[in-house]
Amino acid sequence: MSTVLHLIDGQETAEAARTGDIFNPATGAVQRHVAFASAAEAETAVAAAKAALPGWRSSSLIKRADVFFRLRQILADRTGELAAIVTDEHGKVLSDAVGEVSRGIENVEFAAGLVHLLKGERAEQVSRGVDVHSVKQPVGVVAAITPFNFPVMVPLWMVASAIACGNTVVLKPSEKDPSAAVWLAKAFLEAGLPAGVLNVVHGDKVAVDALLDSPDVAAISFVGSTPIARSIYQRASANGKRVQALGGAKNHMVVMPDADIESATAAAISAAYGSAGERCMAVSVLVAVGDIADDLVAGIRDRIATLQIGPGTDPSSEMGPLITREHRDKVASYVTGAAAEGATVVVDGTRKSFAADGFFIGVSLLDDVKPGMKVYEDEIFGPVLSVVRVETYADAVELINANAYGNGTAIFTRDGGTARQFEFDIEVGMVGVNVPIPVPVGAFSFGGWKDSLFGDSHIYGPESVHFYTRSKVVTTRWPDHTPAQVDLGFPSNH
Ligand code: NAD
Repeated sequence: MSTVLHLIDGQETAEAARTGDIFNPATGAVQRHVAFASAAEAETAVAAAKAALPGWRSSSLIKRADVFFRLRQILADRTGELAAIVTDEHGKVLSDAVGEVSRGIENVEFAAGLVHLLKGERAEQVSRGVDVHSVKQPVGVVAAITPFNFPVMVPLWMVASAIACGNTVVLKPSEKDPSAAVWLAKAFLEAGLPAGVLNVVHGDKVAVDALLDSPDVAAISFVGSTPIARSIYQRASANGKRVQALGGAKNHMVVMPDADIESATAAAISAAYGSAGERCMAVSVLVAVGDIADDLVAGIRDRIATLQIGPGTDPSSEMGPLITREHRDKVASYVTGAAAEGATVVVDGTRKSFAADGFFIGVSLLDDVKPGMKVYEDEIFGPVLSVVRVETYADAVELINANAYGNGTAIFTRDGGTARQFEFDIEVGMVGVNVPIPVPVGAFSFGGWKDSLFGDSHIYGPESVHFYTRSKVVTTRWPDHTPAQVDLGFPSNH
């Protein structure tokens, strides 16, 4: 059985002492192994990134941009090949994997505009004969730690901007589906990125802790679950690093009584059960306002009865398996415990049986869910949609603002005034108006509020340029042939 190896300084490393299993979620079988880095191996990757830094940060911006233009072409030409790797190890259906790659390409396109992004500012004559300008310089070695659910897109959220800004990177992808990250790093090399600028180490807490503690790592970008995001933020900040740590979510979709019920129903189903609910922007709570609830629940119940669940490689599958057996069983436990908590189980996906041995589960719909229930409070990260019934718009806003998470939310309404007020009122980082999964395009930045993000900067887009650069401000005077004077006073510009 093959082993997915680290890629350090452009070379795959020798076999590792410690490994983990990579499953095919559609069959339940182990299909290959992945190397788990020791702290020393993680340090070797950091050393390679550190050694590559002086050369990369001095490369011309045009040469850097060239790499991204070529990478974009490789990704566009070979989307199918990369998407197949995603489906193989993650399980999501192929069309969804293709969508993931195309969203990742947006980040590469953004990075290709780096000449524009890295422009500084200049003010002439701030004092007589004195000018000031600012430049954006790389922070140094960046460590990027990514989750299993978007093995192409989330690494590209980080590495595209970090590299464009002149940094070098050590990427630690999820150990559950690591092959896509190695494919990406090889594609970067093929596009002309010098060896050592992007290194990949695989593994678990051992590798991550080594990156968090390394004095040669300047910044950490993390995306994953909230408890790990919080601990990464605390440990890396205590070590004096710049950190952005994006966590989990519990995304609410509000449906007002005046909403177009057909589009709201279709949107709720797509956003709740797409990718088997394993999206940080998945809708997991449907907030039905007023008397629309009965029709909404009935519409969802009727449509999900015919959802096709099967291997991601089967073109007729609309939803694939979950990532692991343990995760599937944990998701199932929320559904089986829901009735005892007082929820109404409208559709119980745990009862559905499957011919294949993969990590499949049916979709579930729970009604009459309330705050305080486990199904409401926890991020389930599976195909389970909870309906909370409220009387008014104000109740919906109060519910969402009281929730610990603040990643994404949406409102479905025909009333522009209500939508505008929602945008103003809601304490959530990304908002959709009649759009259920409002993941910003690559020219904007992505980020949640509250327990969905620890740190100051959102990820990709303009905020990533801020995160991956340090500002340097230069004040300049050139001799103008006036006699030089000694003055011990504090320089005044008046
Ligand atoms: P996870 O937190 O288990 O793992 C994320 C990364 O951290 C992986 O690389 C993993 O190897 C590493 N890791 C795990 N345990 C660790 C530990 N104790 N110490 C150090 N490193 C550790 O997350 P996951 O299960 O891979 O991904 C799903 C989670 O990610 C969900 O909570 C989802 O909402 C979240 N997510 C958030 C966003 C976002 O943008 N906010 C995007 C995608 C996924």
